[in-house]
Amino acid sequence: MADTPLNQRVLREHVASVYFNYNATFLARVVFVLVFGAFMYLQLGDPMVLPFVVLHLTLYLGMYFTPRWSPSVPATDSAWWARRITRIVILLGFADALAPWIFVPAGNLPVTAALMVVMMGNCARAVQSLRPLKAALFGHTLPMMGGLIIALAWQRDSIHLFLAAFATIYLFLMLRVGVQEHRLLADSLILRFEKEALAVRLAEQIAATERASREKTRFLASASHDLRQPLHAIALFGAALENELRGRPEGVNAGRLMRAVNALGASLDIMLDISRLDAGVVTPVLQAVQLDALFLPLNHTFSAQAEQKQLQLRVRASGLWVRSDPQLLHRMLSNLMDNALKYTAHGGVTVRARERGEFVWIEVRDTGIGIAPEQSNRIFEEFYQVDNPGRDRSRGLGIGLSIVQRLSRLLGHPVQMHSRLGRGSHFRVVLPALVPQASALAGLFPPDAAAQRPQQEHRPGRAAPALPARVLLLDDESEIREAMTGLLRSHSIDALAVADEAAAAAALEQASSDERPFDLLMCDYRLADGVDGLDVGLRLSGRRQGGPRIPLLLITGETSPDRLQRVRESGVPVLFKPVATDSLFRMMARAASAERPGT
Ligand code: ADP
Repeated sequence: MADTPLNQRVLREHVASVYFNYNATFLARVVFVLVFGAFMYLQLGDPMVLPFVVLHLTLYLGMYFTPRWSPSVPATDSAWWARRITRIVILLGFADALAPWIFVPAGNLPVTAALMVVMMGNCARAVQSLRPLKAALFGHTLPMMGGLIIALAWQRDSIHLFLAAFATIYLFLMLRVGVQEHRLLADSLILRFEKEALAVRLAEQIAATERASREKTRFLASASHDLRQPLHAIALFGAALENELRGRPEGVNAGRLMRAVNALGASLDIMLDISRLDAGVVTPVLQAVQLDALFLPLNHTFSAQAEQKQLQLRVRASGLWVRSDPQLLHRMLSNLMDNALKYTAHGGVTVRARERGEFVWIEVRDTGIGIAPEQSNRIFEEFYQVDNPGRDRSRGLGIGLSIVQRLSRLLGHPVQMHSRLGRGSHFRVVLPALVPQASALAGLFPPDAAAQRPQQEHRPGRAAPALPARVLLLDDESEIREAMTGLLRSHSIDALAVADEAAAAAALEQASSDERPFDLLMCDYRLADGVDGLDVGLRLSGRRQGGPRIPLLLITGETSPDRLQRVRESGVPVLFKPVATDSLFRMMARAASAERPGT
């Protein structure tokens, strides 16, 4: 239907409307002609009434039993149906035109007046119902009213001539109204179809954009996975090399190599963040957040960067509480603060929270280079940077603000930006306020996770968990097996690497018969031939049989949203490739100690 030319669609609607009226008035016409015939016969006693009524009834019934238009008729046949209904109403117009020739010559003025009222009423109804088809409108009203006018004029006396003139003016006015309404109707139909076509095009565009976005997510995920695999091996070999060369002059280059590898890993992690946010696998956990507790670690993180650039960093305490996800809010603010420091050469950066009715505004202000008005929307796009045509990586990836925007949507915290070129920028995050009764809230809600997190990692007074002594690694890639065992052994960990589930099961059995159990099972997520590392890991670590459990740590280069979702739901600790050595050891220690009985 959408492909049918516009004029055909309009004509189809016109034909449909005329046929609808035609069908709806069938019974009324039959009743009316009977009543009209009876009235005329009673008034005039003219026997011609009978053939007049019979003629009309025959026409009505004949037309009732001939085929009529129905909605299943193709739009391309509309012109044919329009011609057909036009011919029918012309015939009816001529049949109606007989009435004045039968009844006016009787010279009964009241009857003539009644006839005029009936015929003019009929004319008004015809204009109303036939206005969609101009030919039908003229074809019906002209013979009908023409018959009346001529029959009146034929009497030649002044009163009949006056009535004929009056009927002529009436017909003219009615036809004018009919033509105007026909135009209005056609225009509104064209507008409706154009709007519908526009809506269809818009829906197609939206679908195409969504498809492109999904494809981009998939592309990012697979590109990221393919890059992570070799980079993971490089990171492991490099870390082992760095460890071996520690304290020797050649160690300097190993250190440099590792810094580059870590920077590359960090870039991949940022892409992973975007793909996780797009995939909807990040679910905010909203809770009461004390902003001072959130600002403190931010202040610690960025003060060194500020000092290095000789900028003044002021993070002001406010005593305010908001409802948010502390971890995600921390991420949002760090991106804004990082940018503020990065794009400011003189002056400083101020972070503060202010209460505004039911809301709290967190503002990050800087005295930096500012943002031109025409850039203010584009800077939130992925990989968009105002002035980095050479894509100098040290100046960022152009992704920080797009993460801020995604988090803002996810958390429902609008972000506003004001900036003047050369004068500085001002980003504002708007959050729902909570009543600032710290003591009451502290009892109601668990203490703020963001405030806790940094402390958890370096909790003073408590020894860091020990590294596992014996580790079984399951990875189908020989390079990773070699690199990982090399690295672990260089740190005095007894590591055994196997390529598949059978070999791992055999190693576990051997270990238990030797009474030298493994302290940790590290398993790659994507094993050879599409075998699922999570399932294998869960089986081997004894979780599915309910037997003695070996701590399990999953390592993955996966970034595809559904797989990430599965890993998250399993609750198994996971590391993303490439794994930096310190996070590898930290997670190994944590995973091993978390499940070791008695710890
Ligand atoms: P990146 O900082 O990695 O380039 P972002 O997405 O964080 O990417 O920012 C996009 C662009 O917005 C930056 O390239 C920079 O030009 C501009 N921008 C962001 N924050 C500021 C700021 N506080 N002052 C000036 N320009 C900024």
